[in-house]
Amino acid sequence: MVIKYQNKINIPITELEQSAFCQDGSNFRTKTLEEEFNSGVRWQKIPTRYLKLSPDEIRESIKKLKDAMGSKVTILGHHYQREDVIEFSDLQGDSFLLSKLAAEKNDSEIIIFCGVHFMAETAEILSANNQKVILPNMAAGCSMADMAATEDVKRSWKQINETLSSTNDKKPVIPVTYMNSTASIKALCGENNGIVCTSSNADKAFEWAFERGERILFVPDQHLGRNTGLDYGIKESEMVIWDPYKKNGGLSDEELIKSKLILWKGHCSVHTRFSVDQINSARKKYPDVNILVHPECTNEVVSKADYVGSTEYIKNMVHNAPSGSNWAIGTEINLVKRLAHTYTDKNVFCLDDMICPCSTMYRVHPAYLLWVMEGLVAGYVINQIKVDDKTQEFSKLSLQRMLDLPS
Ligand code: SF4
Repeated sequence: MVIKYQNKINIPITELEQSAFCQDGSNFRTKTLEEEFNSGVRWQKIPTRYLKLSPDEIRESIKKLKDAMGSKVTILGHHYQREDVIEFSDLQGDSFLLSKLAAEKNDSEIIIFCGVHFMAETAEILSANNQKVILPNMAAGCSMADMAATEDVKRSWKQINETLSSTNDKKPVIPVTYMNSTASIKALCGENNGIVCTSSNADKAFEWAFERGERILFVPDQHLGRNTGLDYGIKESEMVIWDPYKKNGGLSDEELIKSKLILWKGHCSVHTRFSVDQINSARKKYPDVNILVHPECTNEVVSKADYVGSTEYIKNMVHNAPSGSNWAIGTEINLVKRLAHTYTDKNVFCLDDMICPCSTMYRVHPAYLLWVMEGLVAGYVINQIKVDDKTQEFSKLSLQRMLDLPS
């Protein structure tokens, strides 16, 4: 859902709501749904009896249901989920790991995906036909994915190809989409010799694409695209930004033809909060600090960091770090807090002093998990994610190309 302005500028509502849960940290805990509804963001409607349940009451009920359901139901939890949800997840991971696990875990009839919409969609595409995938709260989208509306990407793809058809290049442009995109965009990639990637394998996806074409259209995160492109050896001058709200993406034909990397104008509101000033402050406080950031951060931040990598990489770096070391981390706060609590022999903290969870991930309040589990016991599948056959076929193709990349 987007707010439409005249002159065709569409700002995703999820982007406008992104700072809804930001706070100074003194009171960062799960509250009743009724209290959390005061944040002012959109929530999916839920029966009123869930609104006043305390976190402890919810926890007790989920525990009982989980024991009763056994292996029939698998709960997947993304690292950015809050603690009160993660404690019930059978498997945890980033979007890449969870998509692989969803493909492998074919003994459970039901997969409850505690993450955001594009992840549950991917699990639905990769899971077996007899499995059903549930997203506890349908309002849990991703503001970055919402910056690439399917129709805008399809229209832009056509325009880009029309302009490039005048070149003599054999395969002028290969579409590469980050996992954080709709199933329809993944299908567009599947149908047009393209591929999906995550932050764990974007470098390999670039190699794959340049073996097959002259340039890449990278959707939707300009920062992951730019950081990966620079590592690959593409110069800034060979990169252009495609702005879907401008005529021809805001580019002249000549700029497009000269480019090697066309970056969609999208970003993650969580990771673009990190700044060089925050890095400088951390280094001032702890001169031996290790700065570890996610590649969705701006290149300014990435180039000042000591280590850059996906969520799984961040987790492994802290796990393997020596006792007593200092780690300032630029990624979502729920993961940073979990790492700090797990590795108490190391000093792990977030680069940003403000506590700003990803507001779409945060919408998976445990009351929603309880709601869908109680639905299953009563014989209802609430919030099942479905993908039509054609989209399924082509998105599976681009996802499989990703899963086949060398590890
Ligand atoms: S952290 Fe950023 S990219 Fe990840 S789900 Fe939240 S808004 Fe989307």
